[in-house]
Amino acid sequence: MTLRTIEKKNFPPFMANLMKAMEVVGVQEKVEGKYEFAPLESPAQLCLDYDVTLLSPKKYILPPRETLLKFTTGQTVSCEPVMESKPLALIGVHPYDVKAISQLDRIFADANQDEHYQKKRQNTVIIGTDIKRASPYAFCKSMNSATVQEGFDLLLTDIGESYTVAIGSPKGQDLLEKYAASRAATKEEAAKRSEVQEKIPYMFSLNSVTTPYDQLPRLLTDHAEDKLFNELAEKCFSCGSCNLVCPTCYCFDVQDDMALNLTAGERFRLWDGCLLEGFAEVAGGENFREDRSERVRHRIFRKGKYIYEKYGEHGCVGCGRCASACLPDIANPVEIFNRLKEGK
Ligand code: SF4
Ligand code: SF4
Repeated sequence: MTLRTIEKKNFPPFMANLMKAMEVVGVQEKVEGKYEFAPLESPAQLCLDYDVTLLSPKKYILPPRETLLKFTTGQTVSCEPVMESKPLALIGVHPYDVKAISQLDRIFADANQDEHYQKKRQNTVIIGTDIKRASPYAFCKSMNSATVQEGFDLLLTDIGESYTVAIGSPKGQDLLEKYAASRAATKEEAAKRSEVQEKIPYMFSLNSVTTPYDQLPRLLTDHAEDKLFNELAEKCFSCGSCNLVCPTCYCFDVQDDMALNLTAGERFRLWDGCLLEGFAEVAGGENFREDRSERVRHRIFRKGKYIYEKYGEHGCVGCGRCASACLPDIANPVEIFNRLKEGK
Protein backbone atom coordinates (compact mmCIF):
# COMPACT_ATOMS: atom_id res chain seq x y z
CA MET A 1 0.00 0.00 0.00
CA THR A 2 1.41 3.40 -0.97
CA LEU A 3 1.96 5.73 1.95
CA ARG A 4 2.11 9.51 1.58
CA THR A 5 2.36 12.34 4.09
CA ILE A 6 0.39 15.57 4.37
CA GLU A 7 1.74 18.21 6.75
CA LYS A 8 -1.07 19.38 9.07
CA LYS A 9 -0.72 22.94 7.80
CA ASN A 10 -1.51 21.63 4.31
CA PHE A 11 -4.63 19.78 5.39
CA PRO A 12 -7.16 22.69 5.43
CA PRO A 13 -6.12 23.70 1.87
CA PHE A 14 -6.68 20.06 0.81
CA MET A 15 -10.19 20.25 2.28
CA ALA A 16 -10.84 23.64 0.67
CA ASN A 17 -9.80 22.30 -2.75
CA LEU A 18 -12.02 19.27 -2.34
CA MET A 19 -14.96 21.44 -1.34
CA LYS A 20 -14.65 23.34 -4.61
CA ALA A 21 -14.82 20.08 -6.57
CA MET A 22 -17.57 18.14 -4.79
CA GLU A 23 -19.84 17.98 -1.77
CA VAL A 24 -17.73 17.23 1.29
CA VAL A 25 -19.31 15.60 4.32
CA GLY A 26 -17.18 15.38 7.43
CA VAL A 27 -17.37 14.82 11.16
CA GLN A 28 -18.48 17.88 13.15
CA GLU A 29 -19.28 18.49 16.80
CA LYS A 30 -23.08 18.86 16.92
CA VAL A 31 -23.33 19.72 20.61
CA GLU A 32 -20.62 19.34 23.24
CA GLY A 33 -19.17 15.85 23.01
CA LYS A 34 -21.69 14.65 20.38
CA TYR A 35 -20.57 14.26 16.80
CA GLU A 36 -22.27 13.88 13.44
CA PHE A 37 -21.47 13.54 9.75
CA ALA A 38 -22.71 16.69 8.04
CA PRO A 39 -21.85 18.79 4.97
CA LEU A 40 -18.79 20.95 5.60
CA GLU A 41 -19.03 24.65 4.91
CA SER A 42 -15.44 25.34 5.92
CA PRO A 43 -12.39 23.14 6.65
CA ALA A 44 -12.35 24.44 10.23
CA GLN A 45 -15.59 22.58 10.99
CA LEU A 46 -13.94 19.20 10.47
CA CYS A 47 -13.15 17.24 13.64
CA LEU A 48 -10.94 14.17 13.31
CA ASP A 49 -10.51 13.68 17.05
CA TYR A 50 -13.89 12.22 17.99
CA ASP A 51 -15.12 9.03 19.63
CA VAL A 52 -18.20 8.08 17.60
CA THR A 53 -20.87 9.88 15.56
CA LEU A 54 -24.56 9.66 16.42
CA LEU A 55 -25.38 8.12 13.03
CA SER A 56 -22.96 6.45 10.65
CA PRO A 57 -22.11 7.92 7.23
CA LYS A 58 -24.36 5.22 5.74
CA LYS A 59 -27.14 7.82 5.53
CA TYR A 60 -25.35 9.49 2.59
CA ILE A 61 -25.28 6.30 0.52
CA LEU A 62 -28.49 4.70 1.73
CA PRO A 63 -30.64 7.71 2.71
CA PRO A 64 -33.35 7.29 5.38
CA ARG A 65 -35.90 8.18 2.65
CA GLU A 66 -35.11 7.77 -1.03
CA THR A 67 -37.31 8.16 -4.11
CA LEU A 68 -36.85 5.13 -6.37
CA LEU A 69 -39.13 6.01 -9.28
CA LYS A 70 -41.84 8.41 -10.41
CA PHE A 71 -44.94 7.37 -12.32
CA THR A 72 -48.00 8.77 -14.00
CA THR A 73 -51.33 6.98 -14.34
CA GLY A 74 -54.56 7.67 -16.20
CA GLN A 75 -54.49 8.10 -19.96
CA THR A 76 -50.72 8.33 -20.16
CA VAL A 77 -48.97 5.72 -18.09
CA SER A 78 -45.27 6.18 -17.52
CA CYS A 79 -42.63 5.12 -15.07
CA GLU A 80 -39.15 6.63 -14.76
CA PRO A 81 -36.44 5.55 -12.33
CA VAL A 82 -34.97 8.29 -10.13
CA MET A 83 -31.19 8.00 -9.72
CA GLU A 84 -30.05 10.91 -7.61
CA SER A 85 -26.33 11.04 -7.06
CA LYS A 86 -23.53 13.57 -7.11
CA PRO A 87 -19.80 13.45 -6.34
CA LEU A 88 -19.33 13.21 -2.59
CA ALA A 89 -16.38 12.88 -0.23
CA LEU A 90 -16.95 11.38 3.21
CA ILE A 91 -14.16 12.50 5.53
CA GLY A 92 -13.20 11.20 8.93
CA VAL A 93 -14.78 7.75 8.61
CA HIS A 94 -13.56 5.43 11.37
CA PRO A 95 -12.41 1.90 10.46
CA TYR A 96 -15.57 0.22 11.85
CA ASP A 97 -17.71 2.43 9.57
CA VAL A 98 -15.36 1.74 6.64
CA LYS A 99 -15.94 -1.98 7.25
CA ALA A 100 -19.70 -1.45 7.54
CA ILE A 101 -19.81 0.34 4.18
CA SER A 102 -17.72 -2.44 2.58
CA GLN A 103 -20.27 -4.92 3.89
CA LEU A 104 -23.16 -2.90 2.43
CA ASP A 105 -21.25 -2.77 -0.88
CA ARG A 106 -21.23 -6.58 -0.95
CA ILE A 107 -24.85 -6.92 0.06
CA PHE A 108 -26.19 -4.39 -2.45
CA ALA A 109 -24.09 -5.96 -5.22
CA ASP A 110 -25.27 -9.47 -4.40
CA ALA A 111 -28.09 -11.36 -6.12
CA ASN A 112 -30.39 -8.32 -5.99
CA GLN A 113 -28.23 -5.63 -7.54
CA ASP A 114 -29.32 -2.30 -6.11
CA GLU A 115 -28.63 0.34 -8.75
CA HIS A 116 -29.69 3.24 -6.53
CA TYR A 117 -27.16 2.29 -3.88
CA GLN A 118 -24.45 1.48 -6.40
CA LYS A 119 -24.80 4.77 -8.25
CA LYS A 120 -24.38 6.73 -5.04
CA ARG A 121 -21.50 4.55 -3.94
CA GLN A 122 -19.64 4.94 -7.25
CA ASN A 123 -19.83 8.70 -6.79
CA THR A 124 -18.50 8.57 -3.22
CA VAL A 125 -14.91 8.68 -2.00
CA ILE A 126 -14.15 7.54 1.52
CA ILE A 127 -11.39 9.30 3.42
CA GLY A 128 -11.04 7.31 6.60
CA THR A 129 -9.18 8.23 9.75
CA ASP A 130 -7.71 6.03 12.44
CA ILE A 131 -9.42 6.15 15.83
CA LYS A 132 -7.91 8.55 18.36
CA ARG A 133 -10.53 8.23 21.12
CA ALA A 134 -12.65 5.25 22.11
CA SER A 135 -16.37 5.59 22.67
CA PRO A 136 -17.37 4.01 26.01
CA TYR A 137 -19.65 1.47 24.30
CA ALA A 138 -17.40 0.53 21.37
CA PHE A 139 -16.01 -2.99 21.15
CA CYS A 140 -14.62 -2.89 17.62
CA LYS A 141 -11.50 -4.85 18.61
CA SER A 142 -13.73 -7.89 19.25
CA MET A 143 -15.35 -7.43 15.85
CA ASN A 144 -12.02 -7.08 13.98
CA SER A 145 -12.85 -3.47 13.11
CA ALA A 146 -10.55 -1.30 15.24
CA THR A 147 -8.23 -0.84 12.26
CA VAL A 148 -8.72 -1.49 8.59
CA GLN A 149 -6.53 -2.36 5.61
CA GLU A 150 -9.03 -1.89 2.80
CA GLY A 151 -12.41 -0.40 1.97
CA PHE A 152 -11.22 3.23 1.96
CA ASP A 153 -9.89 5.44 -0.82
CA LEU A 154 -7.57 7.26 1.58
CA LEU A 155 -6.83 6.58 5.25
CA LEU A 156 -5.38 9.25 7.51
CA THR A 157 -3.29 8.49 10.57
CA ASP A 158 -2.32 11.33 12.90
CA ILE A 159 1.40 11.01 13.64
CA GLY A 160 1.91 14.41 15.28
CA GLU A 161 2.96 17.22 12.95
CA SER A 162 1.47 15.46 9.96
CA TYR A 163 -0.93 12.80 8.73
CA THR A 164 0.22 9.72 6.91
CA VAL A 165 -2.17 8.94 4.09
CA ALA A 166 -2.57 5.35 2.94
CA ILE A 167 -3.82 5.16 -0.62
CA GLY A 168 -6.49 2.47 -0.93
CA SER A 169 -7.68 2.95 -4.52
CA PRO A 170 -6.91 4.70 -7.81
CA LYS A 171 -9.72 7.14 -6.94
CA GLY A 172 -7.91 8.03 -3.73
CA GLN A 173 -4.60 8.45 -5.54
CA ASP A 174 -6.23 10.74 -8.08
CA LEU A 175 -7.81 12.83 -5.33
CA LEU A 176 -4.50 13.25 -3.55
CA GLU A 177 -2.64 14.19 -6.73
CA LYS A 178 -5.25 16.75 -7.76
CA TYR A 179 -6.10 18.44 -4.49
CA ALA A 180 -3.41 17.89 -1.83
CA ALA A 181 0.19 18.89 -1.25
CA SER A 182 1.61 15.53 -0.24
CA ARG A 183 4.95 13.73 -0.42
CA ALA A 184 6.15 10.15 -0.02
CA ALA A 185 6.18 9.11 3.65
CA THR A 186 9.62 8.59 5.14
CA LYS A 187 10.64 5.33 6.86
CA GLU A 188 10.36 7.08 10.23
CA GLU A 189 6.84 8.26 9.43
CA ALA A 190 5.80 4.78 8.32
CA ALA A 191 7.22 3.36 11.57
CA LYS A 192 5.38 6.01 13.61
CA ARG A 193 2.14 5.10 11.82
CA SER A 194 2.60 1.41 12.66
CA GLU A 195 3.27 2.33 16.28
CA VAL A 196 0.07 4.44 16.44
CA GLN A 197 -2.01 1.72 14.77
CA GLU A 198 -0.70 -1.08 16.99
CA LYS A 199 -1.99 0.74 20.07
CA ILE A 200 -5.52 1.34 18.75
CA PRO A 201 -7.08 -2.07 19.54
CA TYR A 202 -5.96 -1.75 23.18
CA MET A 203 -8.26 1.25 23.63
CA PHE A 204 -11.11 -1.28 23.53
CA SER A 205 -9.66 -3.97 25.78
CA LEU A 206 -12.06 -3.26 28.64
CA ASN A 207 -15.09 -3.82 26.44
CA SER A 208 -14.67 -7.25 24.88
CA VAL A 209 -16.79 -10.09 23.65
CA THR A 210 -15.55 -13.16 25.52
CA THR A 211 -16.42 -15.56 22.69
CA PRO A 212 -13.92 -15.63 19.77
CA TYR A 213 -15.15 -13.96 16.56
CA ASP A 214 -15.60 -17.17 14.60
CA GLN A 215 -17.33 -18.96 17.50
CA LEU A 216 -20.24 -16.53 17.81
CA PRO A 217 -22.51 -18.39 15.36
CA ARG A 218 -22.08 -21.58 17.40
CA LEU A 219 -22.80 -19.71 20.64
CA LEU A 220 -26.03 -18.32 19.21
CA THR A 221 -27.12 -21.65 17.75
CA ASP A 222 -26.58 -23.32 21.12
CA HIS A 223 -28.57 -20.60 22.92
CA ALA A 224 -31.38 -20.00 20.44
CA GLU A 225 -33.99 -20.76 23.12
CA ASP A 226 -32.22 -18.96 25.95
CA LYS A 227 -34.49 -17.24 28.47
CA LEU A 228 -32.35 -14.10 28.11
CA PHE A 229 -34.27 -13.17 24.94
CA ASN A 230 -37.55 -13.18 26.92
CA GLU A 231 -35.98 -11.11 29.69
CA LEU A 232 -34.74 -8.49 27.20
CA ALA A 233 -38.07 -8.50 25.36
CA GLU A 234 -39.92 -7.60 28.56
CA LYS A 235 -37.94 -4.35 28.71
CA CYS A 236 -37.80 -3.58 24.97
CA PHE A 237 -39.96 -0.68 23.71
CA SER A 238 -39.88 -1.94 20.08
CA CYS A 239 -38.72 1.57 19.17
CA GLY A 240 -36.25 0.35 16.53
CA SER A 241 -33.53 2.83 17.59
CA CYS A 242 -30.94 0.04 17.76
CA ASN A 243 -31.63 -0.73 14.09
CA LEU A 244 -31.76 2.86 12.91
CA VAL A 245 -28.36 3.85 14.36
CA CYS A 246 -26.63 0.69 13.15
CA PRO A 247 -24.14 1.11 10.28
CA THR A 248 -24.73 -2.44 9.02
CA CYS A 249 -28.54 -2.53 9.17
CA TYR A 250 -29.85 -2.14 5.63
CA CYS A 251 -33.51 -3.20 5.69
CA PHE A 252 -36.01 -0.86 4.10
CA ASP A 253 -39.73 -0.63 3.41
CA VAL A 254 -41.07 0.40 -0.01
CA GLN A 255 -44.15 2.60 -0.29
CA ASP A 256 -46.05 4.52 -2.98
CA ASP A 257 -47.19 8.09 -2.61
CA MET A 258 -50.00 9.27 -4.96
CA ALA A 259 -50.75 12.87 -5.82
CA LEU A 260 -54.19 14.09 -4.71
CA ASN A 261 -55.49 14.03 -8.32
CA LEU A 262 -54.39 10.37 -8.59
CA THR A 263 -52.57 10.92 -11.89
CA ALA A 264 -48.98 10.81 -10.67
CA GLY A 265 -46.93 9.55 -7.81
CA GLU A 266 -43.64 8.23 -6.60
CA ARG A 267 -42.29 5.06 -5.10
CA PHE A 268 -39.84 5.52 -2.26
CA ARG A 269 -38.03 3.49 0.32
CA LEU A 270 -37.61 4.17 4.02
CA TRP A 271 -35.28 2.63 6.57
CA ASP A 272 -37.01 -0.18 8.41
CA GLY A 273 -35.93 -2.14 11.48
CA CYS A 274 -36.45 -5.74 12.57
CA LEU A 275 -37.29 -4.64 16.11
CA LEU A 276 -40.33 -2.69 14.93
CA GLU A 277 -43.59 -4.52 15.48
CA GLY A 278 -44.77 -4.39 11.87
CA PHE A 279 -41.45 -5.39 10.29
CA ALA A 280 -42.43 -8.99 9.56
CA GLU A 281 -46.13 -8.31 8.98
CA VAL A 282 -47.44 -9.30 5.55
CA ALA A 283 -50.67 -8.73 3.62
CA GLY A 284 -53.61 -10.24 5.47
CA GLY A 285 -52.17 -9.25 8.83
CA GLU A 286 -49.98 -12.29 9.50
CA ASN A 287 -46.89 -11.34 11.48
CA PHE A 288 -44.03 -13.82 11.35
CA ARG A 289 -42.29 -12.31 14.39
CA GLU A 290 -45.22 -11.05 16.42
CA ASP A 291 -43.59 -11.93 19.71
CA ARG A 292 -41.07 -9.29 20.83
CA SER A 293 -38.62 -11.92 22.07
CA GLU A 294 -38.46 -13.33 18.54
CA ARG A 295 -37.55 -9.89 17.22
CA VAL A 296 -34.90 -9.36 19.90
CA ARG A 297 -33.39 -12.75 19.07
CA HIS A 298 -33.60 -12.13 15.32
CA ARG A 299 -31.59 -8.91 15.60
CA ILE A 300 -28.83 -10.61 17.57
CA PHE A 301 -28.76 -13.54 15.15
CA ARG A 302 -28.35 -11.07 12.27
CA LYS A 303 -25.42 -9.51 14.10
CA GLY A 304 -23.61 -12.66 15.22
CA LYS A 305 -24.63 -15.53 12.93
CA TYR A 306 -26.62 -15.05 9.71
CA ILE A 307 -24.39 -12.49 7.97
CA TYR A 308 -21.26 -14.42 9.01
CA GLU A 309 -22.67 -17.60 7.53
CA LYS A 310 -23.29 -15.85 4.21
CA TYR A 311 -20.32 -13.49 3.91
CA GLY A 312 -17.69 -14.72 6.39
CA GLU A 313 -17.87 -11.59 8.52
CA HIS A 314 -20.30 -10.46 11.19
CA GLY A 315 -23.12 -7.99 10.67
CA CYS A 316 -21.81 -6.05 13.64
CA VAL A 317 -18.68 -3.92 13.57
CA GLY A 318 -18.68 -3.07 17.28
CA CYS A 319 -19.37 0.69 17.03
CA GLY A 320 -21.54 0.58 20.17
CA ARG A 321 -24.17 2.98 18.79
CA CYS A 322 -27.06 0.59 19.53
CA ALA A 323 -25.97 0.33 23.17
CA SER A 324 -25.90 4.08 23.62
CA ALA A 325 -29.21 4.62 21.76
CA CYS A 326 -31.27 2.07 23.71
CA LEU A 327 -33.23 3.72 26.53
CA PRO A 328 -33.83 0.57 28.63
CA ASP A 329 -30.16 -0.39 28.08
CA ILE A 330 -30.75 -3.86 26.66
CA ALA A 331 -29.33 -3.64 23.12
CA ASN A 332 -25.60 -3.93 23.82
CA PRO A 333 -24.30 -6.94 21.81
CA VAL A 334 -21.28 -7.36 24.14
CA GLU A 335 -23.54 -7.87 27.13
CA ILE A 336 -25.88 -10.17 25.24
CA PHE A 337 -23.10 -12.35 23.78
CA ASN A 338 -21.27 -12.51 27.12
CA ARG A 339 -24.42 -13.26 29.14
CA LEU A 340 -25.36 -16.05 26.75
CA LYS A 341 -21.91 -17.54 27.20
CA GLU A 342 -22.03 -17.25 30.98
CA GLY A 343 -25.59 -18.64 31.09
CA LYS A 344 -26.81 -15.65 33.14
S1 SF4 B 1 -25.18 -3.98 16.27
FE1 SF4 B 1 -24.74 -2.16 17.51
S2 SF4 B 1 -22.53 -2.27 17.89
FE2 SF4 B 1 -22.97 -3.66 16.19
S3 SF4 B 1 -22.63 -2.44 14.35
FE3 SF4 B 1 -24.81 -2.28 14.85
S4 SF4 B 1 -24.99 -0.44 16.13
FE4 SF4 B 1 -22.81 -0.99 16.03
S1 SF4 C 1 -33.33 0.39 21.05
FE1 SF4 C 1 -33.68 -0.93 22.86
S2 SF4 C 1 -35.84 -0.60 23.34
FE2 SF4 C 1 -35.56 0.18 21.24
S3 SF4 C 1 -36.05 -1.61 19.92
FE3 SF4 C 1 -33.83 -1.67 20.29
S4 SF4 C 1 -33.60 -3.05 22.05
FE4 SF4 C 1 -35.75 -2.42 22.02
